[in-house]
Amino acid sequence: MMVREVEINGRKIVYSLQRKKVKNINLRIKPDLSVNVSANKTVSTSYIDKFVVSKGDFILNALNKFSNIQKTIVEPLYTTKEFSEIILKNFNKVADKFAQKRIAKPTLKMRKMKSRWGSCNYTDKVITLSTHLIYCTEEQIYYVIVHEFSHLIVPNHSKDFYSVVSELCPDYKEIKKELNKIIIR
Ligand SMILES: [Zn+2]
Repeated sequence: MMVREVEINGRKIVYSLQRKKVKNINLRIKPDLSVNVSANKTVSTSYIDKFVVSKGDFILNALNKFSNIQKTIVEPLYTTKEFSEIILKNFNKVADKFAQKRIAKPTLKMRKMKSRWGSCNYTDKVITLSTHLIYCTEEQIYYVIVHEFSHLIVPNHSKDFYSVVSELCPDYKEIKKELNKIIIR
C-alpha cells in the first residue's frame, strides 16, 4: 500500500493507494475519515492523483459528513455505578409520570443492544434498555426511557405516539437527532 497526497480546494488530502486487479480506479471514503483508492497497476500514479482531485467535491462532502458524525463518537460518560443510578433515577421518574396516566410500572431489563437504545414489550410490560446508554447524556437517557414508556400507551411510532413523548419530553426532536449521530464501536 502506498500513501499519497493531493490538494483539493487548498486542503491537503492524504489517501492510501492499493494496487489491485480492479477494472480502473475505485475510490472509497470510510467513516474513520480515511480515503482509500484501489487501482489497476497499469494506471499511472499521476493519473490516479488527477482522478482523486477530480472527485474533490465528493471527497470533501463525504469527509465533512463523517467528521460531523465522528464528533459524537463518545467515551462512556459514567462509572458503572453512576450509570445504574442514573438509569434507575430516570426510570422511576418516568414511571411516576406514567402512573398518573394509569400505566403500571413495567419491568426494567438492561442488555447490550447493538442497533437500538431500548425496546418495549407491550404484552409482557417489559422495557429493555441498552447498556450502550452509558455513552449518552442524562437528557438522552431520559428521552429513551420516555420513548419506551410511551409505547405502553401507543405501540407504534405514529403522531399519537410522539404527542405522548412530547408531553414529557418537549425537546425530543433535537435529542433524537443527536442520538442518531452516536456511533458505538
Ligand atoms: Zn419506539
